[in-house]
Amino acid sequence: DRIVSGEADEQEISFEMSLRPQTLAQYIGQEKVKHNLAVFIQAAKQRHETLDHVLLYGPPGLGKTTLAMVIANEMGVKIRTTSGPAIERPGDLAAVLTSLEPGEVLFIDEIHRLPKAIEEVLYPAMEDYCLDIVIGKGTGARSIRLDLPPFTLIGATTRAGSVSAPLRDRFGVISRLEYYDENQLAEIVLRTADILQTEIEPEGAREIARRSRGTPRIANRLLRRVRDFAQVKGDGKVTLEVANYALELLQVDKLGLDHIDHKLLKGIIERFKGGPVGLDTIAASIGEEAETIEDVYEPYLLQIGFLQRTPRGRVATPLVYEHFQMEVPK
Ligand code: ADP
Repeated sequence: DRIVSGEADEQEISFEMSLRPQTLAQYIGQEKVKHNLAVFIQAAKQRHETLDHVLLYGPPGLGKTTLAMVIANEMGVKIRTTSGPAIERPGDLAAVLTSLEPGEVLFIDEIHRLPKAIEEVLYPAMEDYCLDIVIGKGTGARSIRLDLPPFTLIGATTRAGSVSAPLRDRFGVISRLEYYDENQLAEIVLRTADILQTEIEPEGAREIARRSRGTPRIANRLLRRVRDFAQVKGDGKVTLEVANYALELLQVDKLGLDHIDHKLLKGIIERFKGGPVGLDTIAASIGEEAETIEDVYEPYLLQIGFLQRTPRGRVATPLVYEHFQMEVPK
């Protein structure tokens, strides 16, 4: 498993639960999103209404689930969580919707993976707080409307482009989470170290932040691994030296790139003269799915300006050559 993956692995879930900020004030970064949400939350509370439906999008590990929980907490309501792939039949969704308490938040992760037939159950639920249920079959079939308690739907997705237009249009608030900068990640690392009661020097936190690919989940994971090295090889304190030593051994380079990024980037440079080269060609040459490259490997490389997307394919920028200390071709 990739240590720099933005996705959570199974054993990480309870660890992450213990680290989740509870309030907007504790939620580090994403200032614009937070500011807008704070206004919407306050306005809804003053009017004694439920909050408008919210769609959060951005790469995995940036804090979408966490933010959904913070929103529910700030609204003073409970939250029910599920995910697109977990809802298999329209009846599954109907069961969840009819059991909500008034004002409750329903969080649907990976909402772009809801099958079309289930999405259609959501439309009247989101718009009018009701369900249209068909009973009977053939000529005897008729549709009845069932009222639902008012609720807030919070949807999360890594692929905003894959959310259908009719679904997207039913969200009052659509917010994009951005990669975090080094200062924000260092703050997250220090906060986590405090919760874990781990001694840490600011330079150690900063080194972990630098290699965390703009992603809180990765920052917390790297801290946990570095802490092990500090405990076994040092005196328990996370210093710059220990962080460098541990991250070197974990094969996470100075920019947070691992062997897969190296394989991808070097492949483009060595086999395709730096590009442009089509995604499918890259995929075939390194034995990965094109979709995996596009969804998982590529976003951070695009973000840091290592890759460019052109109409003719991907291009490795001069930054890649510099990173590998190779000469930039003329
Ligand atoms: P996503 O749902 O986008 O994949 P999560 O909400 O599960 O991401 O966040 C992953 C972990 O990162 C959480 O355990 C949380 O502790 C931490 N985290 C995310 N965003 C923040 C933040 N803004 N401040 C502090 N910690 C954060």
